[in-house]
Amino acid sequence: MSSPNGPGVPSSGSPGSGAEALPAPGGLDSHTHMDILGLPVEGVLAAARSAGIGRVVNVGCDLPSSRWSASRAAEYDDVYAAVAIHPNEVSTVDAKRDDVLAELSSLAESAKVVAIGETGLDYYRDHADPALQREWFRAHIEIARRTGKALMIHDREAHEDILSILEDTGPWAPYSVIFHCFSGDAAMARRCAEAGYVMSFAGNVTFKNAAPLREAAQVAPVELMLAETDAPFLTPVPHRGKPNSPAMAAHTIRFLADLKNVPLDEFCARLQSTAASTFAW
Ligand SMILES: [Zn+2]
Ligand SMILES: [Zn+2]
Repeated sequence: MSSPNGPGVPSSGSPGSGAEALPAPGGLDSHTHMDILGLPVEGVLAAARSAGIGRVVNVGCDLPSSRWSASRAAEYDDVYAAVAIHPNEVSTVDAKRDDVLAELSSLAESAKVVAIGETGLDYYRDHADPALQREWFRAHIEIARRTGKALMIHDREAHEDILSILEDTGPWAPYSVIFHCFSGDAAMARRCAEAGYVMSFAGNVTFKNAAPLREAAQVAPVELMLAETDAPFLTPVPHRGKPNSPAMAAHTIRFLADLKNVPLDEFCARLQSTAASTFAW
């Protein structure tokens, strides 16, 4: 079957902000922060829908944003939630660790909470002691295991420690671990692929200086790829400099389909099937 997005017909420069919708079955935004965006959710979702982004996973970084994510997921059909304490936030809640973990566990019981995240390790920022981050990461892993939800990982300059904690707490079924805003190189992508970990690419894969990340995306098997905005951060080309929003996942999806040389409708179908395996929706 021929596709308007076949080889030699680059589409990553289009559409503009009056975005032409992705073809059926459309795409999704596997990681976003509409609470930080601060715009009316109704409008954000309508813009996403008209760009062909039918589902979004709103991700918590602390208790208030985790509660917010779970409530919006209960309220809107196309919103799903992930709940956790971000590694940069763990020192601010550590004094109430047991209570915080108990509340995350109870939020995670909801059917529309599809992942425990974002959790992991951030060795780039020094907001929390690395040893404390590792304790909290392991505590989140226990919740993911107990509730059967996917583990959504934030990994900033911490590849080796994250891989070794995962190995230590494994085995992990394929599609049960997601690296959000994948930031590894081709070698890291190979290791994730072997382990069956899902790699979610954000708008930074479109940046000029992101050659190592594009090499990683080239190596990543299509069936283990997701796309996300991490809005309001990491706005993809051609909208850099503007606030990001779930609708802009469409640009990253077009870019990745071109990069992988997969027709856009087929790439969307793969994304939908990876998301269904990962989030069990
Ligand atoms: Zn993150
Ligand atoms: Zn995030």
